[in-house]
Amino acid sequence: MNVTQINMTAFGLSERFAVLTTDYPNLLVGRILSQERGLYRVISVRGEQFAETSGKFHYEVGRVSDFPAVGDFVMIDCPKSMGNAIIHHILPRKSVFIRKAVGTAQKEQVIAANIDTVFICMSLNNDFNLRRLERYLSICWESGTAPVVVLTKADLCKNTAEKLSSVEGVAMGADILITSAIEQDGYEQVLPYIKEGHTIALIGSSGVGKSTLINRLLGEKRLNTTGLRKDDKGRHTTTRRELFLLPNGGLVIDTPGMRELGLWNAAQGLDKTFSDIDELSAKCRFKNCSHTTEPGCGIIAAIEGGDLTSERWQSYQKLKAENAYAEDAESYLAAKEQKHKNLAKIIKQKKSKGIIRR
Ligand code: GDP
Repeated sequence: MNVTQINMTAFGLSERFAVLTTDYPNLLVGRILSQERGLYRVISVRGEQFAETSGKFHYEVGRVSDFPAVGDFVMIDCPKSMGNAIIHHILPRKSVFIRKAVGTAQKEQVIAANIDTVFICMSLNNDFNLRRLERYLSICWESGTAPVVVLTKADLCKNTAEKLSSVEGVAMGADILITSAIEQDGYEQVLPYIKEGHTIALIGSSGVGKSTLINRLLGEKRLNTTGLRKDDKGRHTTTRRELFLLPNGGLVIDTPGMRELGLWNAAQGLDKTFSDIDELSAKCRFKNCSHTTEPGCGIIAAIEGGDLTSERWQSYQKLKAENAYAEDAESYLAAKEQKHKNLAKIIKQKKSKGIIRR
């Protein structure tokens, strides 16, 4: 039987990954296209098939993020007859997009792996929110992926220049594109990012136009888009993440239905997103400045001088606290307790010296 082999380079199998596969001469390399209830759809030279992780894999895996996710390269064993392929190993990821799992559990969730560029999609009308953008940017930088901010629905916005300028103020180091599904210009700006073997993931609230853009790139209406409601929100019902091969090369991962994007171990991403705040605090007179009442505080001076908005400063503090909590809830609480104890000690000392009366 003459079966056409799939070109795995087109699916992102670069030299980096090809070298890693040589450790497993008896297994085949595949890439995860989608996942549903513990079953994975995998593409390999043999084409698409379903796969599941081996018992040994399950036994040895330590963390939730060690399980395969969309975009992962995996080493599989294909059955000789009917049945699912077996996933034995995941090749080390070059980037991984992780959020805190939805709900109260302190667990992580891998959204996608081995992404080259993330398109953070935000519409220029109802969905426009700089504070959310800061959150998305932090997770992107942390993932090891270059973020591109895609501002959609320019046709529904009257003050695009003003909004663009405010985005430039928070998205330092990221490219910013303006698109409109109705006009061709924005779409052409997206094209340079589409390259053979290069994986792009689209993230953003529901209804901002991600499916519309992916369908345009696919050249067909493969994803369902939703008619606009009066409040301009789409009504996506699916939450399935999926990797698509584009007709002119390049790969795209759709991540619909992500309402919450909680931070998970994103300290470096936060530092990169808020590098301006880092520079401002370096100007503080005191090294341990709390940026509240100290004289010569770089942050307070910047807020008063209009170089830093108090919204951005608050957003930074909020995200820092959220990340610290997610990183280690226990040690965060312990640190907080210690801070209270220190404060109580200071108050006690001041009372004994007569500085504070009550
Ligand atoms: P998704 O949930 O992010 O995938 O959003 P969709 O692609 O489903 O789009 C939601 C709705 O917005 C659909 O009705 C689209 O036709 C509409 N839409 C998408 N892009 C634009 C745009 O640039 N301008 C306008 N006016 N509508 C758009």
